[in-house]
Amino acid sequence: MRFIDTHCHLNLMAGQGIDMDLALREACADGLTHAVQIATDLTTARQGRELCSRWNAASDMPEMSYTAGLHPEAADQGGSVPAIVSFIEDHESDGNFLGIGECGLDYFHSTEFAPEQKSILRTFFELAERLGLPVILHLRDSRVYEPGETRSVRDALQILHQFPSVRGVLHCFTYTYEEAAPFIERGWFVSYSGILTFKTATALQSGACRVPLSQLLVETDAPFLSPVPHRGEVNRPGYVRHTLEFLSRLRERECGESSENVISAIYENSLRFLKWKRILQEGLYAR
Ligand SMILES: [Zn+2]
Repeated sequence: MRFIDTHCHLNLMAGQGIDMDLALREACADGLTHAVQIATDLTTARQGRELCSRWNAASDMPEMSYTAGLHPEAADQGGSVPAIVSFIEDHESDGNFLGIGECGLDYFHSTEFAPEQKSILRTFFELAERLGLPVILHLRDSRVYEPGETRSVRDALQILHQFPSVRGVLHCFTYTYEEAAPFIERGWFVSYSGILTFKTATALQSGACRVPLSQLLVETDAPFLSPVPHRGEVNRPGYVRHTLEFLSRLRERECGESSENVISAIYENSLRFLKWKRILQEGLYAR
């Protein structure tokens, strides 16, 4: 079986006692063909670029892509946004540069920095529209609200209205189908992490059955959020297969799709996601 991790933070794995090179080599032997190293600030964007050029020279490693952005929880580093924008302008034509992210709105701990987060998100959407780059969007609230009530989702959508051509992925999505629907209608992907496999995630699971198969992705968000049966351990890109297999069995049971079909469709979606920049830039975009 071949599979892809569309969102991980390999730079953070080392700090958790994981040998990144070994973890990637093992995952590659298991079927992981590609992984995306996601930046959370300027330093991790630079690290991602270096890691990609090192790893992509090795034949026994998955092919790596990288991104650049500013995580909303780092909104106090808003002063670095112009440097991140320059970094993106300088490297957007690199073959391994995927897009802008992660960026977004995070109201989990507080909404104190909401104005800064919104203004930074506006800057990244503007850049995404200008350069034809996809966006990796992080949205998080302190609890699950009723559809239409999740403030981070509602606020992001309001900003997105001003940039109608922007496309991207709702990364590590944890809200209802109704919350995702306006993004799905705009052609966005919805990506599920290991949270989907948790016993208590029943609302999330029923939403994941309603997302069109052609717009589904999976990710680890490693080193966080390990899926069952590794819950509580340090996550790694190879563990994405557990989320993928869970989702394929879920859709087989609930939607009558064959699990093999779901696995291969998500693989094709992931490949499309990896080259989305070219698709957007060449105006080949179609849902
Ligand atoms: Zn992340």
